Formats: sequence, structure tokens, C-alpha cells
Amino acid sequence: VDNMDMLLTAPWRAPHAEEWDKMTMQEFFDKVCWTSAARRFATLFVNVNVTSEPHEVSALWFLWYVKQCGGTMRIFSTTNGGQERKFVGGSSQISECMARELGDRVKLQSAVCSIDQTGDMVVVKTVSEETYKAKYVIVAIPPGLNLKIHFNPELPPLRNQLIHRVPMGSVIKCMVYYRENFWRKKGYCGSMVIEEEEAPIGLTLDDTKPDGTVPAIMGFILARKSRKLAGLTKEERKKRICEIYARVLGSEEALHPIHYEEKNWCEEEYSGGCYTAYFPPGILTQFGKVLREPVGRLYFAGTETATEWSGYMEGAVQAGERASREILCAMGKLHSSQIWQPEPESVDIPALPFVTTFWERNLPSVGGFVKFMGMSSFLTVATVVGVVAYKKGLLPRS
Ligand SMILES: Cc1cc2nc3c(=O)[nH]c(=O)nc-3n(C[C@H](O)[C@H](O)[C@H](O)COP(=O)(O)OP(=O)(O)OC[C@H]3O[C@@H](n4cnc5c(N)ncnc54)[C@H](O)[C@@H]3O)c2cc1C
Repeated sequence: VDNMDMLLTAPWRAPHAEEWDKMTMQEFFDKVCWTSAARRFATLFVNVNVTSEPHEVSALWFLWYVKQCGGTMRIFSTTNGGQERKFVGGSSQISECMARELGDRVKLQSAVCSIDQTGDMVVVKTVSEETYKAKYVIVAIPPGLNLKIHFNPELPPLRNQLIHRVPMGSVIKCMVYYRENFWRKKGYCGSMVIEEEEAPIGLTLDDTKPDGTVPAIMGFILARKSRKLAGLTKEERKKRICEIYARVLGSEEALHPIHYEEKNWCEEEYSGGCYTAYFPPGILTQFGKVLREPVGRLYFAGTETATEWSGYMEGAVQAGERASREILCAMGKLHSSQIWQPEPESVDIPALPFVTTFWERNLPSVGGFVKFMGMSSFLTVATVVGVVAYKKGLLPRS
């Protein structure tokens, strides 16, 4: 395990981990953002990426989150970044196709409410009073939703407390459909990054089908705004969204959608929010190490337990495969060194390195620049004083 792998799998062991975990991202931004424009964008960056507020999340956790998605450019970009690729026909096809293959082994509408591993087999019971027995169980739900399950024996103390301490983000996904893709005619791609406090939406993407049909703009109502606007009616939200699109795109056509759909993920009982769980300050360093530590014959998957693209579908796949390999290892079918395997890179569209300019790589931060100026002024003054003192014979000469 090299150093970078260690930081991704165990960020609580990073240098400065405790210091950064005590800090919220807001406190971090207060230290490093020198202009209101930088602060506004930094806030939106947190809102967009983890559907929560800078004052809610641990700096250590958020910095880890961005790193495990390949850095600030990869996570935020559409081209060559996290938002680049979509599934023709929608991503739910993945689960639908898998379910078709698995047949009646997939049980829908069967919420698990108890897991008992006191006997030879693990006994899983559902709210609809079905019982299943298994040698091993993979729990692939967000950590907080484990609270809906009664465990026998009780969970170990750290895991029992962890599941109380990691809330889900807040987002309302909003789809506005138009007769025509009017923004493309104006040369716009449909991606909007909107910082204005009164604007409901923070980020949009063009969601028109690849063949140009069903022109649509997808937008997210994020974090504080999703809470604030949840009390409005669907019609009111639609109106406000269209108004901001009309202003940003400079087009009256945005005011006349032909259809509107929205989904408030905060209301989903078995998600608890979206896109993923976040770690408030102090939790990652104290409880992180038990996030995916098996408990008896229970193994933990779900995107929150991933070490790359955690928070995304990619992370959910990595976590599921890793948890399956942990069980194969427990069954003696796999060596422990084979549990962690890198996810294969896409052959068709590999992630390309980002090209940065000399100034992007080398420009100091404002803090760094001020320190540098302070230090060089001090050295200049000290040198001048030294030279003058030497010339005036105030310094001893040998
Ligand atoms: C609005 C929105 C946009 C997103 N956009 C993207 C994107 O563009 N790209 C991307 O990669 N990811 C995106 N994500 C994130 C992505 O959806 C998640 O990372 C992914 O679904 C996580 O998969 P999972 O299997 O870990 O958990 P989930 O998909 O949450 O699956 C957990 C399942 O367990 C079920 N469950 C919960 N509790 C119980 C219980 N007690 N008993 C039985 N079943 C239970 C739930 O009903 C759910 O079906 C987005 C999420 C949201 C909400």
C-alpha cells in the first residue's frame, strides 16, 4: 500500500488529520479565501459536490472526498470529468438488467428490519415479515439507514455510534422540458453555475437526449436551498427555476416549458437524502476506521464505503465488489491480498490528465504571497541594516 492509497483508504491516518477533522470547510475557507467571489464559488463547490453546506462538513472529509474523485478539476468538470458520461436510456437500466438476470432472487418492497447472527446462519427479517437465511450478509445501504435495522448481537460500540453520526446530503433534482433546445441556438451548452443567493438552482446540465429529442435542462436545488424551498408548491418552484434560467440564458423562451418534473430526495425514507452521506467535523478520525470493518458475518458495502468515487455509482460498484471478495476470502476461496483490486479504467473513453498552465501550477496562494512578501521585506530590511551597520563600523571586524 503506497502513501496515496493509504490516504484514500484511511484518511484518518493522514498528516494533520485531527487538525483538519476538527475544522469545518467553512473555517477552512475563512482561512484561505480572500475575496467574496472566491468564498461564493467555494460555497457552491461544496454545495454541488456533496449537497451540504461548508459549515456542516469536516474539512478532512471534504478534502478526502475531492481527492478520491481525482481532484478539483475531475470532480467538477463535465468534459473529462465526473459529469461527462451518461447512460443512453438512463442509469436505472443497470439495476433493471441485473434484476432480470437474477430473477425472483431480487426482492423488492422488502425492507430489512432485523439481522440476527446468534445462530449457525445469519437470519434476516423484513418489515413484510419474510425471513431469509444466509451464511454471510452484505449490508449495502448508507450508514445512517442501518439505524432502521435491529442487530442481534448488538453492533460494536464504534459502529453503533458511527451510524448515528453521518447524515445524508439534501437535494431536489429538477427537470424542465422545452419544445426546443433554444439555448443551443444561442451557442450555449446548457451548463449553468449559479451563485446568486436568491436563485433556487446551483448547477444545471443539458439533459437533451443524445439524438436531440426531448430538450431538457436538469438542475439541482442544493443543500440550504433545498430545505428553504421544500415548503413551496411544485408550481412555485418551477416558476422560480424558469425565471432564473430566463435571466441566465437571456431568453424569454425559458419561461415557457412544456413539462416539469422534480424529485426531492430528502423525502425518500430508504435513502434519507442524497447524493451520499457526509461526515461532520470530528467523526472521520474517531469512527472512520469502522466504516467497512466486518461485524461477524456482516460485511459493509454501499458507495460511502468506497475509496474511489465514493458518493457515486462507480463507488457503489467498487464497494460491492470489494465486499464480495471479502466474503470469498472468509470462505477460503480468495487470498486476502486479492480483496482490494483497482476498478478497470474505461477503454473507450479513458480519463485524460488535465493540462494546466504554468501559472495555474506555480501561482502562490494569497496567504503564501503575503508570507513571501513579508519574509522578503524582512530580509531586505535586515540586509540593508546589516550593510549600513557594517559600513558605519558598528559591527566588529576581524
Ligand atoms: C439526485 C441525485 C443525482 C445523482 N447523480 C449521480 C451521478 O450523476 N453520477 C453518479 O455516479 N452518482 C450520482 N448520484 C449518486 C448515486 O445515486 C449513488 O452514489 C448510488 O446510488 C449509491 O449506490 P448504493 O448502492 O451505495 O446505494 P443506493 O443506491 O442508495 O441503494 C441502496 C438501496 O438499499 C435500499 N435500502 C435501504 N434501506 C434498506 C433496508 N432496511 N432494507 C432493504 N433495502 C434497503 C434502498 O431502497 C436502495 O434501493 C446521484 C444521486 C442523487 C440522489
